[in-house]
Amino acid sequence: MTALDALPPLRDVVRAFDLAPRKSLGQNFLFDLNLTAKIARAAGPLAGVTVVEVGPGPGGLTRALLAEGARRVVAIETDERCLAALAEIAAACPGRLEIVHGDALSVDLPALVARFADGPARICANLPYNVGTAMLVQWLETEPWPPWFDRLTLMFQREVAERIVATPEQRADYGRLGVLAGWRTRARILFDVPPSAFTPPPKVTSSVVELIPRAAPLACEARLLSEITRAAFGQRRKMLRQSLKGLSARGAAVDVVALLAAAGVEPTRRAEEIDIEGFVRLARALAGAG
Ligand code: SAM
Repeated sequence: MTALDALPPLRDVVRAFDLAPRKSLGQNFLFDLNLTAKIARAAGPLAGVTVVEVGPGPGGLTRALLAEGARRVVAIETDERCLAALAEIAAACPGRLEIVHGDALSVDLPALVARFADGPARICANLPYNVGTAMLVQWLETEPWPPWFDRLTLMFQREVAERIVATPEQRADYGRLGVLAGWRTRARILFDVPPSAFTPPPKVTSSVVELIPRAAPLACEARLLSEITRAAFGQRRKMLRQSLKGLSARGAAVDVVALLAAAGVEPTRRAEEIDIEGFVRLARALAGAG
């Protein structure tokens, strides 16, 4: 029996540390050890790997990542109440769990990870629903690319997972998230997790998504691709000649008709009809505009 196995059951930890889940922090905890092990295995093999976990909560997935052999887990948790429970896990695995108290959206993760890992790290998390998408976009917009992580294994609501892996063929789900994810990574849904697996159960099914960074995505500036897709999908029912009207370059309004012509995109098209390559051409044209 390892020191991790000797830790008290998660339900007892939640009771002992008075960790009543808070909706405002997206707290839906996993207590099922088979499930946390399955998620950790999906992120593996972990031997010698530094794993970043956002939102460890009482530490169910954290324990599983350590049990799967992660050399080190760097866990960023915003809820102060969870820190003492996490400290017990750290004590059971000396030198293998770094607990960071803070908002993962504003922590400088690359700098943090550089203190502990000499190669690429990996990100594995049961993300809080309220900030999960913003976190993913931040990771997809990372510069330079290839990034400081070599894989993302993340839990989202099923509906968000479908948007991440969507292509123009899945028109209803295809949007900014699908373009950014498909541009820089190979993304796929690994498996679903029913509401009953969580405490408290959320209203919807969740899915674990894997994103593997592409070594050489089509060349364009992430910032501009992000800007173009925000404008285009912000008014997805409108033709691009209309939806892109607010764009600017070097402080001046962009000539949208010229931009679309330079990218070889028909002005009467709508965002959901444009594939990733088309958006990349638009981002390149925006770089040369103004
Ligand atoms: N990993 C745990 C599990 O699987 O049982 C908890 C997952 S729960 C869905 C999300 C966790 O993220 C909560 O512990 C919550 O406090 C934390 N959290 C919410 N917003 C955060 C933020 N901005 N930065 C870091 N952690 C955050």
